[in-house]
Amino acid sequence: MKTALVTGGSRGIGSAIALGLGKNFHVVVGYANSEDKANDVVQEIVAAGGSASTVQIDISNAESVDTAFSTVEKEYNSVDVLINNAGITQDNILPRMKEAEWLEVIQTNLTGSFYTSQRAIKLMMKNKWGRIIFISSVVGLSGNQGQANYAASKAGLIGLAKSISKEMGSRNITSNVVAPGYIETDMTSFLDDENKENIIEQLSIKRIGKPEDISNVVSFLCSEESEYITGQVIPVDGGLTT
Ligand code: NDP
Repeated sequence: MKTALVTGGSRGIGSAIALGLGKNFHVVVGYANSEDKANDVVQEIVAAGGSASTVQIDISNAESVDTAFSTVEKEYNSVDVLINNAGITQDNILPRMKEAEWLEVIQTNLTGSFYTSQRAIKLMMKNKWGRIIFISSVVGLSGNQGQANYAASKAGLIGLAKSISKEMGSRNITSNVVAPGYIETDMTSFLDDENKENIIEQLSIKRIGKPEDISNVVSFLCSEESEYITGQVIPVDGGLTT
């Protein structure tokens, strides 16, 4: 059975992705702090007849990434699928943005995915098969007020994914981006009912997204059926960006 590592698999979109992949892969649920929640995700996958385990991986730290990959490699021989899902926000308008806010978001969201992807690709090259999915954001395509750091990090992921697709296509390694719109998770829990109504007004499909809306697309991009799709950005946003 192939192995899939989901960074930030403990909560929100990442846990939905882990549950979706649990039908076809051994899933390694990555967590930085939420060990209990990661264990709950493992139990849910196992209860549904799948196979899963956890690993601690702080993607902002190269040493933590290396240790986590070594652990998974030792136990399961490979990482065939990498879901670069973990991400953070530290919002501020640019005139007030502190250098630390800029650096921390870039380090986690962009450099973190560089660490994980570089490490995973070495294993995928050996096996001549791999799937890498980056969870970017629609704001990586459009920009957003108060999110220059986050939007830049998410736009950066698109360049990273497209470059990997060109370098690795000949080895059966695909690299694609999913760009969610507004999805109901802890990250968007600050939105009150009025904010949500305003967002829904802008959408073609009149509801806020669910983590499963993202995981369904990710599962397809990890399947054999998607082998001819690489270097693409797929917005999953209820029509926000049309
Ligand atoms: P949540 O805030 O609900 O969860 C964030 C996840 O990232 C947690 O599992 C957390 O793990 C993990 N994480 C945070 N920092 C690190 C780190 N340094 N190393 C490893 N893991 C880390 O976020 P969402 O589920 O909402 O978002 C998931 C992804 O989707 C993010 O990349 C986000 O930018 C993107 N996205 C979300 C949208 C939304 O509307 N929700 C819209 C567009 C994009 P732990 O709890 O263990 O610390």
